[in-house]
Amino acid sequence: MAAVNIKSLKESQIGEFLNSFDTVLTDCDGVLWMETTPLENSPEVMNKFRDIGNQVFYVTNNSKKTRKELVEKCKELNFQATEGDILCTSYLAACYLKDLGFDKKVYIVGSTGVSKELEQVGIKHYGVGPDIVQKDVPYMSFQRDPEVGAVIVGFDEHFSYPKILKAASYLADKTVLFIGTNRDEKFPLDSNIIVPGTGSLVRCIETCAEREAVIVGKPDTYIVDALKKRYAIDPKRTLMIGDRCNTDILLGTRCGFKTLLVLSGVTSLTDIETWKNSDSQEDLDLVPDYYIDKLGDLLPYLKNFERSSSA
Ligand SMILES: [Mg+2]
Repeated sequence: MAAVNIKSLKESQIGEFLNSFDTVLTDCDGVLWMETTPLENSPEVMNKFRDIGNQVFYVTNNSKKTRKELVEKCKELNFQATEGDILCTSYLAACYLKDLGFDKKVYIVGSTGVSKELEQVGIKHYGVGPDIVQKDVPYMSFQRDPEVGAVIVGFDEHFSYPKILKAASYLADKTVLFIGTNRDEKFPLDSNIIVPGTGSLVRCIETCAEREAVIVGKPDTYIVDALKKRYAIDPKRTLMIGDRCNTDILLGTRCGFKTLLVLSGVTSLTDIETWKNSDSQEDLDLVPDYYIDKLGDLLPYLKNFERSSSA
């Protein structure tokens, strides 16, 4: 597998590329927007993908928001979306438990995205919000709630020592399920401040509990299994777009999708050059089929595109 600079393809070849898929999965941050600013022409490209007959899914490791809140964000930034088009890890964690017929309570180390999605499927929970060290409440006085049958770890800006203690204590019981939303180590911010991501929190609790979490986000394939249960997806005619190779592109590779890296986010061209020449399959799995500077660069081709009838 070798990376191809899509910009160097002749227009006729881009037509062939655009005809080669009818399902598009895209990451959000770094591809469609940066925080709350849409990237130039990304909304137009995504909406155009839909206009020419693709089914479009937004696939994000974000666990802070619910699907409903992400639809609102999409709309504010001019991306067409419904709740059915959104696969975020707060929702996936709830799907995972619902699909198992889980009927106990969840201890959440995470945000309201997770608690609200659990409520949508009627699962009880507790744990969201600050849980600080209190001098007059010794740790050893913690009493496990016998109803708790799962621990979910997502993004939690209130992450604390008492939360680690509680999560690990529940997980000492091996029948308690352990779900992590994702393993992104840090946020891709252009600054000299390192903002810890959920992966750092998951690893911390895994270390203390001496157990590994089931991960529902990218690059683990649960996310695509959940999608396939609900929609008809042909891997050979599916395109995965992302800005991060160790999540987005790796997921695409694992699922047999075509992969397109945009260079507007985390992974740089230098990274790909290194992996492309590696002997290790692990590195080769990170190499996308195509790359492009930014998603918006596809717009001129999509404007003139007509799907061939044989596709
Ligand atoms: Mg991203």
